[in-house]
Amino acid sequence: MEKETGLNLLISREEIDNIVMSLAVRIEKDYHDKNPLVICILKGSFVFTSDLVRHLGINLEVEFIRTSSYGLGTQSCGQVKLVSDTVTDIRDRHVIIIEDIIDTGITTSFVFDYLKGRNPASLRICSLLSKPSRRKVNITIDYPGLDIPDKFVVGYGLDCAEKYRNLPEIYFIEEEETCQQD
Ligand code: 5GP
Ligand code: MG
Repeated sequence: MEKETGLNLLISREEIDNIVMSLAVRIEKDYHDKNPLVICILKGSFVFTSDLVRHLGINLEVEFIRTSSYGLGTQSCGQVKLVSDTVTDIRDRHVIIIEDIIDTGITTSFVFDYLKGRNPASLRICSLLSKPSRRKVNITIDYPGLDIPDKFVVGYGLDCAEKYRNLPEIYFIEEEETCQQD
């Protein structure tokens, strides 16, 4: 895919692989006898989830949830909506939420509270990226990948107006006002 100007490499393919593998080692150790239910938050986490589960040599199941924030722009406007739910019953299951990025924390915190209300045996959060300087709600990331500065990033599942999800590396974008989030 042709790279456009305005995209600056932030995390290489090799660095991503190392982060994903180290997260997988930790998760594998904690969940080897638990048959966890791994819940991918669509759309952004689909690439990360598919890489992560292939490094997990344990029994597990995969589910999907889709959320959206109301409004436009590159920031979560604070109102999260569940667009599509899991099919599997999560009651008494060991659930791991898989996030691409935690920014203000509003989306993940909404998903966490929603799933908690369905009585899983345990509920933890794994996030590839985090922007701690932008946090608005407190959130514990049980399996954190990498902290990044306050920059808008694309690639490896993350989009700018639905573009760039297929880039293998992660870039920060200079003109983030051109991105519209659902
Ligand atoms: P939060 O609710 O934590 O503020 O934001 C969560 C969602 O906003 C993420 O799941 C992601 O969809 C989007 N988001 C936040 N920061 C970025 C970013 O730097 N790049 C992209 N592509 N999406 C982001
Ligand atoms: Mg997301």
